[in-house]
Amino acid sequence: MSLIVQKFGGTSVADSSKILAAARKAIRSQQQGHKVVMVVSAMGKNTDMLVSLAHEISDRPAAREMDMLLATGEQVSVALMAMAVHSLGHRAVSLTGAQIGIRTDSTHTKARIISISTERMERLLDEGNIVIAAGFQGIDEQFNITTLGRGGSDTTAVALAAVLRADTCEIYTDVDGVYTTDPRMLPEARRVQQISYDEMLELASLGAGVMHSRSIEFAKKYSVPIHVRSSLTDTPGTLIVAGPESAQRAVSGAAVTKDEARITILGVPDVPGTSLEIFSRIADRKITVDMIVQNVSAQGKSDISFTVPRQELPLTLEAVEEAAEVVAAAGITHDEQVSKVSVVGLGMAHQSGVADKMFRALADASINIEMITTSEIKISALVEREACQAALRAVHQAFELAEPPSQGTVFSGPPAPQTVTNPADVAMRLQGVGMEELMIDDVSLDVDQARVTIVGVPDAPGVAAHVFEEVAAGGIFVDMIVQSYDGREGLATLSYTVPVDQLARAVEVTKSLAKEFGCQEVTSSQQVAKLSVSGVGLRSHTGVAIRMFRSLAEAGINVDLINTSEVQVNVVVDGAAGEAALMQLQSAFADVMR
Ligand code: ADP
Ligand code: ASP
Ligand code: MG
Repeated sequence: MSLIVQKFGGTSVADSSKILAAARKAIRSQQQGHKVVMVVSAMGKNTDMLVSLAHEISDRPAAREMDMLLATGEQVSVALMAMAVHSLGHRAVSLTGAQIGIRTDSTHTKARIISISTERMERLLDEGNIVIAAGFQGIDEQFNITTLGRGGSDTTAVALAAVLRADTCEIYTDVDGVYTTDPRMLPEARRVQQISYDEMLELASLGAGVMHSRSIEFAKKYSVPIHVRSSLTDTPGTLIVAGPESAQRAVSGAAVTKDEARITILGVPDVPGTSLEIFSRIADRKITVDMIVQNVSAQGKSDISFTVPRQELPLTLEAVEEAAEVVAAAGITHDEQVSKVSVVGLGMAHQSGVADKMFRALADASINIEMITTSEIKISALVEREACQAALRAVHQAFELAEPPSQGTVFSGPPAPQTVTNPADVAMRLQGVGMEELMIDDVSLDVDQARVTIVGVPDAPGVAAHVFEEVAAGGIFVDMIVQSYDGREGLATLSYTVPVDQLARAVEVTKSLAKEFGCQEVTSSQQVAKLSVSGVGLRSHTGVAIRMFRSLAEAGINVDLINTSEVQVNVVVDGAAGEAALMQLQSAFADVMR
């Protein structure tokens, strides 16, 4: 007998008639011969309401009490849902996170799942019940109630699907699938038929609020097919599976994180260990950092910039002020009026001309790019918040995302039953321990890259577009791109890496442009080594970059450039240190290698 997990989000259980409609959907699935587990969110805006209530009482409510409070929202929903199923003449039992045995760590308000016990759910299902599980919540070792972070019911649903070996996990929500970008931001966005785990993971962590990004980590790790669909209509929805919608397309989606804050630490002595001082203090506070960018140093000092979600700014500044004192930095600046616009696509890993297209679209819309970071499958640009919608529209148009791909995959009905071939997955599932723990697939070294850096780039729309158009026109394949925010007002530093054998050509092209735009100078280095750590959910595991910084600092190796994504963290170090850096990283991640 097959098993389906059906998750209903807040809007899908916002009132009694919607609760009854959801109950009918579950009953229908049961009548079609499936065992059904429902995962339910708090009704409507109930969680928001509870959050504001807490803030009426206190500016900084204790995280433990926040969890105690927020978990009540889901408890209301599961009880009402069970009553709804009963009233329609069927059997159902509601369970809280604790009653299911969702064990988490003790990081209140962003707890991670350690294990889930399946016995009780399995027994109830065998007895013919629909099991109704409260989303978003768990319990720690001391029986404290924990929550998984806003939007966390998706993660509960996919985690339950993984441990129960469900055939599919259906996410019922207020949109009829995953769109090329948030349809509330851009009405021209298009629903995609299918999207890959890696793309969805990246998009979710870059602002596509339709799925909680950690739910996609689970889905990928345990091969759970996800089917996102509307709770109101019967349209086919979107499958989140291993493969993308179209193998040809460079970009499959765009996202914006509207409320970001940039922090820059000025005049940091460029010696091993400074990044560690800074970022370990931030990681200790469980804050997820993105867009870490460091200037190639001038006179032994560099500026380090990065972004955090805007609501984390006060806590981040607290950490940074501590660190700045220890490393004797010259100062700290920040800007909380910025947004991050990103494009994501598996196809860009093998195609050139993607970055320049994005930068051109922004330049033509007269939008200045304050910072740039890239990874294998995403490009992010930091822009002023006022411009974020225009920026999103410009890139969405440039990559023709509203048009269906010419050779897409054909939607083939419900997803195929999952097959789990990786023995590690099976073993982990059976043991049920450390479900959300960090897992690294690979640590690798690439010595075939060289670096080009343009110092003193005028901070005006169009420079990045010109540089990468010219470089692409020269047939040069650019790998990493990093544009920092400089302490010196109005200037930026732009670095990129290319294959060693294309360096001379890249430098030539870049020098002539630098002159044209009045940049200060172009430097380059053939002696660089790129180290990559790959796995799942790396950015949300705040400790990954820290482990890298720590192990490299211990060996006295300085990090020149870094980029992070959900599936890979890359650092560029001096070429002569490549082998030593590889050994350091291999031992630093030995305990979490798959
Ligand atoms: P639920 O309460 O069901 O969990 P959410 O509000 O968390 O619903 O997620 C659904 C919303 O996500 C949509 O209404 C939409 O505005 C937003 N969204 C953001 N990015 C996307 C995207 N790429 N595709 C679809 N919806 C998106
Ligand atoms: N109710 C929680 C929230 O609003 C969890 C969820 O809905 O996924 O964030
Ligand atoms: Mg949601």
